[in-house]
Amino acid sequence: MPNGDRSWSTVVGHDWAVEILESGLRHDRLAHAYLLVGPPHIGKTTLARTLAQAVNCETGSSVPCQRCRSCLLISRDRHPDVWLIEPELSSSGRAETLRIERIRNLQKDLSLAPYEARFRVVVLARFHQASAGAANALLKTLEEPPTRVKLILTADQTDGLLPTIVSRCQVLTLRPLPLEKVEAALLLHWGADEEQAHRLAHISGGRLGLAVRLQKSPQLDQQRAEHLDMLEELLELDRTGRFRIADRLATNKSVSEILELWLGWWRDVMLAAADHADPPAVTNIDRSYQIRVAASRYRLNTARLAIRSIQDTLWQLDRNANTRLALEVLMLNLPA
Ligand SMILES: [Zn+2]
Repeated sequence: MPNGDRSWSTVVGHDWAVEILESGLRHDRLAHAYLLVGPPHIGKTTLARTLAQAVNCETGSSVPCQRCRSCLLISRDRHPDVWLIEPELSSSGRAETLRIERIRNLQKDLSLAPYEARFRVVVLARFHQASAGAANALLKTLEEPPTRVKLILTADQTDGLLPTIVSRCQVLTLRPLPLEKVEAALLLHWGADEEQAHRLAHISGGRLGLAVRLQKSPQLDQQRAEHLDMLEELLELDRTGRFRIADRLATNKSVSEILELWLGWWRDVMLAAADHADPPAVTNIDRSYQIRVAASRYRLNTARLAIRSIQDTLWQLDRNANTRLALEVLMLNLPA
């Protein structure tokens, strides 16, 4: 965990967001509800947790001490008044959703005062996956916020959210960090060596949480390599071979993550195809060679079409389309 003399030192980067929250706390002008927006693993939950520490730190300062009982319990997700509520797998077993019952139970629990904290802090993670019923139910709480409660919603994007939800929260949109910052943090706080830090900073595209996950789990890192191999191989295969891969992927619970990874690879190809002069700033830096070869083979337009096909497939999977069918269509749409 990072540690520095800066305020809110558990949060790497996102200085402007920290500044807004800390100053709000110092001047007693915090909003009742925040919406933290940004791609997965960019630091939304870490920022939420640190805000929970800041409002409840026993030192009473606006900077969490990281030593008191409250700060320590929150850092371990064990504080009785700081709740992390996440979407759950549906009965069909694939799509995650946050259901209305969960919000109704939350509302019952919120009518009671916090057990020991100054503020009860409820983090509603990935709220873009909430059902329409759940989102509507939460509106009531946002309109008449209970005292001594802070709500923090997180979402990958605001697109799928009710405008009335967005307008009742203070929205903070987190952007990827500069790669040097991710690299430095990996070296300083997570024990990476220089080669590793450089590679993971690139692969993460500035999402520190993703870089740390890959750093901590060589198995995840290995999986990532295998899923990119799969993409590079399938481009050489005929229809039958590709359908075999679709078959294999259809039962994989991480299929959306795998498609996001493929999307990144094709974005790199598009960058490389658009920029012949300089070595482009590719994300998948360990695949530079394959990406350069693909760029000269497919050119810009084909890369664009591949990106659109993968985006369409992700969109359909998000809406519970038939996974195998959607993947088979994608296999036919990817270039040969
Ligand atoms: Zn503290």
